[in-house]
Amino acid sequence: MATATLSRKKPAKKAAVKSSNAPVAKAHLNGKAGVKRVYFFGNGKAEGGADMKDLLGGKGANLADMTKVPLPVPPGFTITTDTCGDYNDAGQKLPKGLMEEVRANIAKVEKAAGKKFGDVNNPLLVAARSGAKMSMPGMMDTVLNIGLNDEVVLGLAKLSGNERFAYDSYRRLINMFGDTVMGVDHEHFEHELSAVKNEKGAKVDTDLDTEGLKEVVARYKEVYKKHVGSDFPQDPYTQLEHAIEAVFKSWMGDRAIRYRQLNDIRGLRGTAVNVQSMVFGNMGDDSATGVAFTRDPSTGENVFYGEFLVNAQGEDVVAGIRTPLECKTEMAKWSKKSWAELLAVKKTLEARYKDVQDFEFTIEKGKLYMLQTRNGKRTTHAAVKIAVDMLKEKLIDEKTAILRVEPASLDQLLHPTFDPKAKKDVIAKGLPASPGASVGKPAFTAEEAEERVGKGEKIILVRRETEPADIGGMHVSEGILTSTGGMTSHAAVVARGMGTPCVAGAGAVHIDAKAKKFTANGKTYGVNDWVSLDGGTGEVYEGQVPTQEAALTGAFAQIMKLADKYRTLKIRTNADTPHDADVARNFGAEGIGLTRTEHMFFDPTRIHHMREMILATDVESRKAALAKLGPYQKEDFVGIFKAMKGLPVTIRLLDPPLHEFLPHNEKDQAELAKSLGMSLDAVKNRVQQLHESNPMLGHRGDRLAVTYPEILEMQVRAIIEAACVCKKEKISVLPEIMIPLAGTKAELDYLKKFTVATADAVFKEQGVKVPYMYGTMIEVPRAAVTADEMAHTAEFFSFGTNDLTQMTFGYSRDDAGSFLPEYVAKEILERDPFQSLDIGGVGKLIKMAVTLGRGVNKDLKCGICGEHGGDPRSVEFCHTVGLNYVSCSPYRVPIARLAAAHAAIKESQGAGKKK
Ligand code: ADP
Ligand code: MG
Ligand code: MG
Repeated sequence: MATATLSRKKPAKKAAVKSSNAPVAKAHLNGKAGVKRVYFFGNGKAEGGADMKDLLGGKGANLADMTKVPLPVPPGFTITTDTCGDYNDAGQKLPKGLMEEVRANIAKVEKAAGKKFGDVNNPLLVAARSGAKMSMPGMMDTVLNIGLNDEVVLGLAKLSGNERFAYDSYRRLINMFGDTVMGVDHEHFEHELSAVKNEKGAKVDTDLDTEGLKEVVARYKEVYKKHVGSDFPQDPYTQLEHAIEAVFKSWMGDRAIRYRQLNDIRGLRGTAVNVQSMVFGNMGDDSATGVAFTRDPSTGENVFYGEFLVNAQGEDVVAGIRTPLECKTEMAKWSKKSWAELLAVKKTLEARYKDVQDFEFTIEKGKLYMLQTRNGKRTTHAAVKIAVDMLKEKLIDEKTAILRVEPASLDQLLHPTFDPKAKKDVIAKGLPASPGASVGKPAFTAEEAEERVGKGEKIILVRRETEPADIGGMHVSEGILTSTGGMTSHAAVVARGMGTPCVAGAGAVHIDAKAKKFTANGKTYGVNDWVSLDGGTGEVYEGQVPTQEAALTGAFAQIMKLADKYRTLKIRTNADTPHDADVARNFGAEGIGLTRTEHMFFDPTRIHHMREMILATDVESRKAALAKLGPYQKEDFVGIFKAMKGLPVTIRLLDPPLHEFLPHNEKDQAELAKSLGMSLDAVKNRVQQLHESNPMLGHRGDRLAVTYPEILEMQVRAIIEAACVCKKEKISVLPEIMIPLAGTKAELDYLKKFTVATADAVFKEQGVKVPYMYGTMIEVPRAAVTADEMAHTAEFFSFGTNDLTQMTFGYSRDDAGSFLPEYVAKEILERDPFQSLDIGGVGKLIKMAVTLGRGVNKDLKCGICGEHGGDPRSVEFCHTVGLNYVSCSPYRVPIARLAAAHAAIKESQGAGKKK
């Protein structure tokens, strides 16, 4: 039997009440007359339903719905999420009248269950379970076995004919209530349990007999009294009321807040509380508890995927203490009937919810009960396969299949896997809990992981098991390795949700967290040793195993093809090299939205010519240096044009301030001076001259071209010559020459003269002509505001939303890191505007510029090329304002393709609703 019900060490909470003898908390003045706060479910009928997740939380809504199917759900009721909101708004006071409503509903549960709450002869026990609209696994608190006390325990023993079970349940209640509700550290209870086990010579909890458990109960009560300052409350309603409050409080607990932040869950009022009649998986060897998915959440395969523990209760399975049995292989051996029932449940659930379900069940003396169902979290790999499979099975339609895959989550599939040809030294093998390849150095606590990642290290978090308080460290780690726990342990569930590779339950890994090392396969690995792990196979390797690029194949390719069918927005990529362009093409890019030419100058030989150009003192010598750079640029452009095979390529002319290309330490300056035959002083002077106090707003962008038109001439020449080369090789090209940072039409006009003259000269020399476009980035607010003027000269607009955001807010991009996180934490800003487009401000400028520009030229091509081009929310916005394309980094192209499809589908569905 279970060792301990609660393995989760929770941060100590303030005790809700000081004394159990205190009167039940007074009714407070925050009651709302006539508001229904409690919804009953039981015996095939329910007041709530699946469409009431906002009010009843996901768990409550689905308990109601499952009741109506009917599936065997123990009767109970749900207290609304609004009540939690009211509770916290009122400074954590239960609304007036709530407990009366609760009592009335307990009466209904009593009737449905044929038992009585607090009755010594025929006791009803209940669970108080949290459940917000979005599932927040392990984040909220649940209290089981409420209603037990010194007398009821005797009644339960008699009723069940199982005294041992009764005391086992009682000690669990005191522990859970003490820990979850009153904030007594779980360790104190654990300590007493171990002590009793030692004295009785019991190895595991199951070895403890009734007498042993009675002793545990007695000691737990002492622990409770010592730390709470009063006796364990004997009144069932006092227990229930405090448990309800504890669930409400847990909504505002650190773990819950952190989880919501990390998962971008906003705008919810609180959690519901589900009070439900208890059923018992710990009644003996004909009882069990388990969790299951209707399909494999790791691979997406259509197979029953679940685990169970015989004679166990509550979170024993999830907690990862005892290693549970696999349903698929073991359950039929234990009970053919239960296994058949579970397979039927799988069908019923999928037919009803049209999605993979993650459900919890308990078997009490052979009878199956359903305790929860929700849409199962899955890896992206599984999400894609399940969407494609369910479409084939006609469970869902194409649009639904597309919407089933979160665009941002595709990131998981775009990451490298281990090179199958690489040599691998397996040092341990665990469960393949969350797929993906990761390489890093071990860290042994979540804090250590966060700290070292902050310093730029790549970390594999190595723990016996993880717990909710670890999620910060789990989030930043490359991979997670645990030595205990199953496929549904905390580490496994959370890692899958995060898309972090995880190997769980690798028993051969012996961890000494204090000494910061672990041993496996006879060797010791410390904080400086590289390890690699494959969450898809469960293997752990020594060293840094080489990885290889992801490929767009199979179900992934199918879902992308479907997405392309529905999206209208084009997807381009930001690529500076032929290699990037190639990668992006393979991911489906339909052009290049941004080529940053300056990146081409950083190569060692090129930077030398670049420096020579910058240090030139007159136009002639500057032109001479530029002439050396030209051929390199041309070569790069030829490569990029060829890779893009006739698709449009937007090339941005030189943008950064020149000082960025010069060396800033004296040693390098001296070397440069020597190689150019200049004095060190002359070099230093020039560096000094180019120094800017705010380079972001300084001599950069088209301001460089205005002052040194010869730079523009060299670049335009390289572009047009490259295009001519391609044309002669019968490769079609579509260059779009893009002027950065312009703020006035006059700048564009001035630079256009040089551009056209240079292009014409090249055409004449080459004897061929190629079409090209002349356009501008819109990144200065003035450009957006005067877009109607700009559009007379510019043939296209590309919104450079990084700079546009910087200048609209007046936030220096490079310095914003010191205050933006606080702005987000304090909810002054909803999100970091550099990551997700500020729709209300920057978005307004974009919308205005598009409207103004298209007023002049209705075919004006408009796109976006900032970081935002790969952010699904921003992509959706770009779709709605009618941009022609978004451009993002190569690895985000599939994300943008899918996000664009989501935007188009949601728009059509929204329009359908309005009709
Ligand atoms: P979580 O949101 O953390 O999954 P739950 O409310 O589902 O919390 O409760 C955790 C566990 O407690 C469940 O997995 C189940 O095993 C057990 N449990 C909850 N309600 C009952 C009940 N009515 N009878 C028996 N066990 C229950
Ligand atoms: Mg919970
Ligand atoms: Mg649950």
